[in-house]
Amino acid sequence: MVPILDLKQEYLELKSEIDAAIERVLSSGGFVGGPEVAALESELAAYLKVPHVVTCGSGTDALFIALRAMGIGPGDEVITSPFTFIATLEAILHAGARPVLVDIDPQHYNLNPALLKAALTPRTRAILPVHLYGQVAPMQEIRAFAQQHGLKVLEDAAQAIGARYCAAGCRHPVGQACDCPHPLAGTLGDAGAFSLYPTKNLGAYGDGGFIATQSESIAEESRLLAAHGSRVRYHHVRPAGYTSRLDALQAAILRVKLPYLETWNARRREIAQMYHQGLKNKVQTPCEMPYALHIYHQYTIRHPERDRLAAHLKDQGIGSSVHYPLPAHLQPAYRDLAPEGTLPAAETAAREVLSLPMHPFLQEAQVEAVIQAVLRYA
Ligand SMILES: *Cc1c(COP(=O)(O)O)cnc(C)c1O
Repeated sequence: MVPILDLKQEYLELKSEIDAAIERVLSSGGFVGGPEVAALESELAAYLKVPHVVTCGSGTDALFIALRAMGIGPGDEVITSPFTFIATLEAILHAGARPVLVDIDPQHYNLNPALLKAALTPRTRAILPVHLYGQVAPMQEIRAFAQQHGLKVLEDAAQAIGARYCAAGCRHPVGQACDCPHPLAGTLGDAGAFSLYPTKNLGAYGDGGFIATQSESIAEESRLLAAHGSRVRYHHVRPAGYTSRLDALQAAILRVKLPYLETWNARRREIAQMYHQGLKNKVQTPCEMPYALHIYHQYTIRHPERDRLAAHLKDQGIGSSVHYPLPAHLQPAYRDLAPEGTLPAAETAAREVLSLPMHPFLQEAQVEAVIQAVLRYA
């Protein structure tokens, strides 16, 4: 059996450190916010090399709080990708704005910058690129377009903590932590929203998220909104704030895990390399863009008979998953966003993509078993 993900193994590996962190919080008597959360925020800010990190209740919260903190609201349009987890769309709607979908580039599954222009209207206020599967969207083009048209950029970096936007051709040693000087995903726009959901590359043991930003005003506004619109307890300076906070227990657990993130991402890249070697020319393997340090939140292949391949893998005891079976505009709840047939790259991708088992604790023999099982079908 090779499950797509195995979170228990990671816990067992870190058990003594995690148990000590939990014990420390339980005996402190402080459970929401407090010194563990403050320490995690500074450690994340140091890791990402940004001046401000604001933690909150989830990645979805991070997205819509950041949008509101940027001043996006009713009457505004936000350009985003149809090929994403639905939270990206929900965040735009929660902020009161309208999502405008732009098709993906089928090479990397992220927004196709050549199509931005056609989506621009006088109401466009922001672009929300998603760094899908752990590979950064073409941010240079997206940023240039945003700058030219006076738009804000919020990155959905939920799947991309530790991914980088590099100079073309920057070489990354496989299996070693990256020490290149290039900026990290989520620090390339006005703000980045991250998820700390257990399955993400840096996951808590419950829900959590955060906003990273260079902007003091976005950070300050996000902090206000996440805490009932108040800076001083029982004094509310913004209407319609939220209760969106990180638990001290989660912060303490994340503080144990953060120092391992680079090593874990390096191991993911090493596993991706094994998959590439075993599967290239047999199925369509992920395309690493020359500017990207891909951190393989998912290792996603394409196959014209995707559902049959997935069923075959299941018979062989191999887990797999489809991210995502429907693009946003074909979801029953979002049919009004765009007619079928108008976002063909996303529609085709949704029919063909299949994510294979990927986590830093996969054994080489397991990777080999997955490769052999795919090859027996392909
Ligand atoms: C996980 C995820 C989110 C939402 O994060 P939560 O912490 O689950 O709210 C948003 N966008 C993308 C692309 C994600 O993968």
